[in-house]
Amino acid sequence: MFETLLLNFLFLLFPVVIVLIFFENRTHSYNRKMLILLSAVTMILCIAKPIKLEMGFIFDLRYIPFIIVALFGGYKNVLPLYLILNICRFYVGGGGTIPSFLYSTAVFILIPLFSKKFLKLDSKSRILCATVISFLTMGFYLIILSMILGTLDRQFWTLTFHALTTHVVVMGIIMLLIEKIITNIKNRDRILQSERLNVVSELAASVSHEIRNPLTVTSGFLQLLNKSNTITPVEKGYIELSLQELNRAEKIVSDYLSFAKPQSENMVYSNMKAESEYTKNLILPYATIHQVEVQFSFNNSLNKSYDRNQIQQCLINLYKNGIEAMKDKGGGTLIIDISERKQNIIISIQDTGIGMTKEEISRLGKPYYSTKEEGTGLGMLMAYSTINKVKGIIEVDSEKGKGTTFVITIPT
Ligand code: ADP
Ligand code: MG
Repeated sequence: MFETLLLNFLFLLFPVVIVLIFFENRTHSYNRKMLILLSAVTMILCIAKPIKLEMGFIFDLRYIPFIIVALFGGYKNVLPLYLILNICRFYVGGGGTIPSFLYSTAVFILIPLFSKKFLKLDSKSRILCATVISFLTMGFYLIILSMILGTLDRQFWTLTFHALTTHVVVMGIIMLLIEKIITNIKNRDRILQSERLNVVSELAASVSHEIRNPLTVTSGFLQLLNKSNTITPVEKGYIELSLQELNRAEKIVSDYLSFAKPQSENMVYSNMKAESEYTKNLILPYATIHQVEVQFSFNNSLNKSYDRNQIQQCLINLYKNGIEAMKDKGGGTLIIDISERKQNIIISIQDTGIGMTKEEISRLGKPYYSTKEEGTGLGMLMAYSTINKVKGIIEVDSEKGKGTTFVITIPT
């Protein structure tokens, strides 16, 4: 019995290991299909090699991959597993086919209900949650079995004991591995992003500083020239255009300059009330033009030291993106909420705009990534860089067509 148990454990490890080695890069869309396929294979292997107890009862671990996929993927992803499970079961046939079908249907309907909440939990709670659900699912199965059997002898209780402990322990271990892989991937992404920001900010600081002086000088002389009486209106037009373009260049450079190291004269120790209100008022006209209603709430007493200009620029960039996302939808609501939680300042910026796909989210904050015609793709880069400097993190939750929420967590 111990050997079959180990074998089953190996089956369950198999998709975890394969994914870890070959499909770690989440941005590919075939990843999800591959995971479902691997889980299906695992499930079939588990059904084919059930664990036989000495007294003749058998049980297997088919519901472990099933529950994991249901929790992480919801109805859409677990449906293929549900179909495969029942096709296999009908193929095998026998007396238990109909109860098994009803049972799996109940599991299929109930467990994905928790999927959305489950995904919002932190790593430890997810492990606990999956283990408890696995325990309950198996408990439910055993209760049904006891009703079919009628008599509850010692053998039944031995089966109960074995089945429950195996499910709980195996589920716990597999979830531990999965969560560890997820954390590792997240950490690696964070390190990559912060490396990228370091390079960009060093380069930007030096380049933009050097370019600013010639720009100011040129624009000054052009303005003088513009005032001259001897130039024709056509020439005046050329000068106006040049000035406009110079202004644009200046704007891009000042966006760049804010990537630079925090400047000591801008450093403040405060709770962000002044900055968030100032920037909100600044973008109100822009919001009104695009029929966007702005809701603002502030509830934070924690203080933090930061570069005032950079935080303001960062907030403006995020507000602007939110408004721009709602522009083509003919308006919407921008909800800005600043609060505190466990010694962290939480800034949440929510819009009801066009939203983003997973792939688009993963490209956020890369230099020059923009989907807008006039976009620079520097806004998010600046936001990430600023938040990175105050040791905070930005989390993005977005649904295509529905809207986006940025949640910034800044430790104090
Ligand atoms: P830009 O705004 O100049 O395009 P950003 O760096 O500010 O550059 O944003 C990069 C891209 O990220 C945008 O072009 C847009 O596609 C996407 N994006 C950013 N914020 C949002 C949002 N709130 N909703 C939808 N898409 C967004
Ligand atoms: Mg922008």
